[in-house]
Amino acid sequence: MAEEANPFESLQEQIDDAAVHVDVPEDVLERFKHPERVLETNLTVEMDDGSLSIFKAFRSQFNGDRGPYKGGVRYHPGVSRDEVKALSGWMVYKCGVVDIPYGGGKGGIVVEPRDLSTGELERLTRSFAKELRPIVGEDRDIPAPDVNTGQREMNWIKDTYETLENTTAPGVVTGKAIESGGSEGRVEATGRSVMLTAREAFDYLDRDIESATVAVQGYGNAGSVAAKLIESELGANVVAVSDSSGAVHDPGGLDAAAVRSHKDETGTVTGYPDASEEFSNEDLLTMDVDLLIPAALENAIDGDLARDVKADVVVEAANGPLTPEADDVLTESEVYVFPDILANAGGVTVSYFEWVQNRQRFYWPESRVNDELERHIVDAFDGLTAAFENHDLPNFRRAAYVVALERLGRAYRESGTWP
Ligand code: NAD
Repeated sequence: MAEEANPFESLQEQIDDAAVHVDVPEDVLERFKHPERVLETNLTVEMDDGSLSIFKAFRSQFNGDRGPYKGGVRYHPGVSRDEVKALSGWMVYKCGVVDIPYGGGKGGIVVEPRDLSTGELERLTRSFAKELRPIVGEDRDIPAPDVNTGQREMNWIKDTYETLENTTAPGVVTGKAIESGGSEGRVEATGRSVMLTAREAFDYLDRDIESATVAVQGYGNAGSVAAKLIESELGANVVAVSDSSGAVHDPGGLDAAAVRSHKDETGTVTGYPDASEEFSNEDLLTMDVDLLIPAALENAIDGDLARDVKADVVVEAANGPLTPEADDVLTESEVYVFPDILANAGGVTVSYFEWVQNRQRFYWPESRVNDELERHIVDAFDGLTAAFENHDLPNFRRAAYVVALERLGRAYRESGTWP
């Protein structure tokens, strides 16, 4: 992993950069750069051996001017207050880019989930849900999965909330299992929006996606689905993928679905029998490919590493995978970066569809979910490229923030100020 930039400072820098092009007063801009509130709590959990452990946890509610706070819950030893604040802010701008009626939130627990049994994880999650209960709700704040959380954790949060509130409220979280009120297409949604962004990007740049070579860093929910869809729906050649154990490479093309099955069976992509070679993660990020997809964690590429990036196009599946310095380096070297707040917005967009279905108690077939998602991502892509051209902006990230900041500014102006 590269040099550590503070992700909250990165977010604020990105907002400042965009604000130059948008008519937002300084004082209102300050509001858009800070969370409205952050819950910090210490969860006490009984472990299987009867001892008690304390886990630090956060929930940041960044901005609610456009709707309820919305964002995932991450379980990772590297979770910090600033990381959660940054991730919650990115959600505000992400919901703004794809124009869905949500603000931004994010939560996290400082934990290595692999060290806990399923029972311990359930008690930890229910303990967090109990702390969250007063501040979340279908119209207040709607958590979702993020790194190391998924349907199982969302079902536990929903069940805890509903039990304590003595009600049914499936829309209190999204990313649930279908049987618990989840949406068709949700599991694949983030990878699908990465695929759609790559398709639109190559079309916009007048490049052929079918002959493109692709490398994917991080092979979890976002990365592996993106790789599979880019291969199956766009016909591109996924030549290398990695996870925290290292990278596998085959210049003739990997079978993205088969690598995922190998990871499901063994826990890692390394050891995939049909790869021609294995190397380090860093080597994957500097491969000479047409399309690079960082899909692991933030700050994967810093300024130094960016100087060695040889890909022509970067589509960000992870949140904040480039430091601001890396962003500048890639802009200067004319690598086209399509930003996280557009590319991975499929997750929150289909979360929105899940919530709409929960509120209506009327469920859509997968084809409708995928069609609506495609419409949102293509419209957002077109809005972003229009801003890029109209404001003569240096890169597409700046364009995405400009679009989102304009929408946020309008929402705030129209609501007025409460004393
Ligand atoms: P995940 O836990 O399913 O997968 C993360 C993957 O990254 C794993 O394969 C892990 O081994 C790998 N990884 C971790 N450290 C690495 C390293 N140093 N080098 C290479 N690989 C490494 O998580 P996810 O849900 O796929 O999320 C990945 C990123 O996408 C995060 O930044 C997350 O915030 C973002 N994201 C996810 C969703 C979603 O719906 N899942 C939505 C929006 C954004």
